[in-house]
Amino acid sequence: MAKIRFSALEELAGRVPVERKQRPRLAEVYGADVFTMEKMRHYLSVEAFRKLEKIMSEGGAIDRTLADQVAAAMKAWAVEKGATHYTHWFHPLNGATAEKHDSFIDILKDGEVIEAFDGKLLVQQEPDASSFPNGGIRNTFEARGYTAWDPGSPAFINNNTLCIPTVFVAYTGEALDYKTPMLKALSLVDKAAVDVCQYFDKDVRKVIATLGWEQEYFLIDAALFNARPDLKLCGRTLMGHSAAKDQQLEDHYFGAIPERVNAFMDELEYECHRLGIPAKTRHNECAPNQFELAPIFEEANLAVDHNQLLMSTMKRVARHHHFRVLLHEKPFKGINGSGKHNNWSLLTDTGVNLLSPGKNPKSNMQFLVFLVATTKAVLEHEALLKACIVSLGNEHRLGGDEAPPVIMSVFLGRQLDSILDEIEAKVSSRKMSPDEKTELKLNVGKIPEIMRDNTDRNRTSPFAFTGNRFEFRAVGSSANCGGAMIVLNTAVAEQLMAFKRETDALIEKGVKKDEAIFQTLRKYIIDCKKIRFEGNGYSKEWKEEAMRRGLSVDSDCISALKAYMAPKALKLFVGNGIFTERELEARFEIKNEIYLKKLQIESRVLGDLALNHIIPTAIAYQNTLIGNVKGLKEILPDMYAEVGNVQLESIKEISRHINEIRTLVGDMTEARKVANNTYVNEVERAEAYSATVRPYMEKIRYHIDKLELMVDDEMWPLPKYRELLFSK
Ligand code: ADP
Ligand code: MG
Repeated sequence: MAKIRFSALEELAGRVPVERKQRPRLAEVYGADVFTMEKMRHYLSVEAFRKLEKIMSEGGAIDRTLADQVAAAMKAWAVEKGATHYTHWFHPLNGATAEKHDSFIDILKDGEVIEAFDGKLLVQQEPDASSFPNGGIRNTFEARGYTAWDPGSPAFINNNTLCIPTVFVAYTGEALDYKTPMLKALSLVDKAAVDVCQYFDKDVRKVIATLGWEQEYFLIDAALFNARPDLKLCGRTLMGHSAAKDQQLEDHYFGAIPERVNAFMDELEYECHRLGIPAKTRHNECAPNQFELAPIFEEANLAVDHNQLLMSTMKRVARHHHFRVLLHEKPFKGINGSGKHNNWSLLTDTGVNLLSPGKNPKSNMQFLVFLVATTKAVLEHEALLKACIVSLGNEHRLGGDEAPPVIMSVFLGRQLDSILDEIEAKVSSRKMSPDEKTELKLNVGKIPEIMRDNTDRNRTSPFAFTGNRFEFRAVGSSANCGGAMIVLNTAVAEQLMAFKRETDALIEKGVKKDEAIFQTLRKYIIDCKKIRFEGNGYSKEWKEEAMRRGLSVDSDCISALKAYMAPKALKLFVGNGIFTERELEARFEIKNEIYLKKLQIESRVLGDLALNHIIPTAIAYQNTLIGNVKGLKEILPDMYAEVGNVQLESIKEISRHINEIRTLVGDMTEARKVANNTYVNEVERAEAYSATVRPYMEKIRYHIDKLELMVDDEMWPLPKYRELLFSK
């Protein structure tokens, strides 16, 4: 095995040419593979284009004639570009993207072969839903599922295939994907935000949620990756002693990008731009071989599609450069994990970012209302916001090595914090004097100036205000951002609706509009104090404080997931028409099921590696030591008398680790059996796995990592951290 490892290192050092291609200019390639509005205009009749444009901005049904026209246009464009197939492209709940390609081929009655694609095929397809997670929604006798076109996200060509973004629902109408409920949440927040904006600007007709994700990832040499079964099967290392040097010197972050990595990034960005993904920023991250890509933000639905597309494009492009990309939240113990910060805001059709302080007191009041409503949304649904980001992978990441803590809190920054305090102190339910009002308005008017020097950057906050947006940092690097977007947008919509209701009630009682807004705002500011936290989110004190405040401090995935089934979540989702009770339950079950399956795989892989790779290697090494001791005793008895004990101690220590590993793997296997046999219900089984199987993983690893330090490097069967992390 060691041989493979060294040949792998040779391959990586010599055989991979670093190619820097000369690429066409950005303007020539941007969106080349996307069926954009301009292309639609070109391929459609004026009348059809107008009709479609109207439906896209205002919603409404697409009739069969229009669908046929759009399908013909899409096909004409795609075939011209060399596409041979088409597929509905959707995001089932396993977190991946799904596609089932069909060729454009059709045979007419007279045997003539043609390229066919009509409105019916564009609008709806019927994939079998039974092979995707469905949380019991699908009965085996009714396995059908439907995908339906989402005109809000443009079709694109990938691998000679016309990809049509779609939603995915069961035969019975329940959602089986992220997109369906997310579109509902986005439309809910649109309406709620427009209603609140009306207090300040009657011209606002539409508000969109904006999302700018930052994707973190690791790049690992393909040959080394292939020599690590744990990376191949689980996406993370289940063992491996930390390298003597990793990120202590902080010499990787923002460092010069290695040539081979740069060539990968070049090609990735080129592909992104062709696909209309506005990739903008690239840099080294904190950990060795960790990097980040961030685009310019977009409308949330499109941004989520683009992130899904990015993840699959990354995997594809990495192979061209003999890399494998790791999207796991914690591929390596002891160094930074990977997240996907979700930068989020709301934008009006009049061009106003509602989370950006404006130019006058009025727009600043509007800013404060949205800021505080969002903060209160996090307070009300902190447990649910946690539930939507937890996973087996993220469980390893959260709470350590620069990842956000598992307790949700909102960081606003010192300046804003004090403005909120001021409003709280000055506004009261009695009528304010004109002077008081003027002073307050004046201070509110000063917000942009005050914030100009807002350099606060609290890296320990899971939900931080960063000047003109909130940054939800707890999202995992492999997650579909849709999960977080559903909860966040619905929760904010709920607060905006409540804000409007309460303010209107005051106005009806005769309170002037300005004053009514101030009073409701003050009430919300007081309410949301519990979630505001400016201090160190890693500290022990914060955990204690959070418990006193009644925030959820659960750190394990299975406990956190329960928030999906809490009455509060039901009220939020079912009450607002985002999920039915059945759909919510299904989602909860699926999350548990995925956790269970992944943990089961990890536990098996660890057991296999321990028994088939590590123990035999340790024994072989131990035998050489035994041979050595025997030889010493025979040839140099004096020497043996002197150092024999030390050598025997090494042999004994290896034995102890081997025995521990054997026993622990045996116990872990038994724990799996017990959990499998005791619980039929997957939620209960997931809970049992989390409580009884998971703890063995770290214990077994401990002994393996100790052996790694003792056994001859030549014999060690797996590439080590120092090789995985420092080969580029
Ligand atoms: P940092 O690493 O300092 O957080 P980056 O530049 O890496 O900053 O990422 C910032 C992200 O925030 C980008 O994706 C950017 O497009 C996004 N962003 C900026 N403004 C908004 C906004 N109004 N709404 C949503 N996302 C935004
Ligand atoms: Mg960021």
